[in-house]
Amino acid sequence: MGFEKFGRRSFTAMTKTAKFVDLLSEGKVAGTVCKQCGAKFFPPRADCASCFSNDMDWFEMPGKGKLETFTIAYYAPFGFEKDCPYTMGVVDFGDMKLFARLASDIKPEDAKVGMDVSVKPLKYEDGQMSFEIIKA
Ligand SMILES: [Zn+2]
Repeated sequence: MGFEKFGRRSFTAMTKTAKFVDLLSEGKVAGTVCKQCGAKFFPPRADCASCFSNDMDWFEMPGKGKLETFTIAYYAPFGFEKDCPYTMGVVDFGDMKLFARLASDIKPEDAKVGMDVSVKPLKYEDGQMSFEIIKA
């Protein structure tokens, strides 16, 4: 099992972090944490970039962070053309950051650097899974 159920277009056939998509289906946006040195990763990694251990565990992303920056896309890559314009942002959770699209109910003019936000799973109408930034 790979990332077949993730995103609008998935080009990843197999991965050791496929559980990420299962966790999205369960309502959880999760990263991985190294059991050896405690380094956290999002998107999840199967191997630690700090100590190279493959002894990893899953953790759920924190409930609240701050929108660090955002931008509006008026031109999109293959598979996302119909979504334009849309807003993407970086959330600062303190010890990690996350990049994602902002939920469509956050209008671009309402997005503010420093606003309280969270992240939640997103299920597209065709059953594919992703995640999005929401108001906290
Ligand atoms: Zn490590």
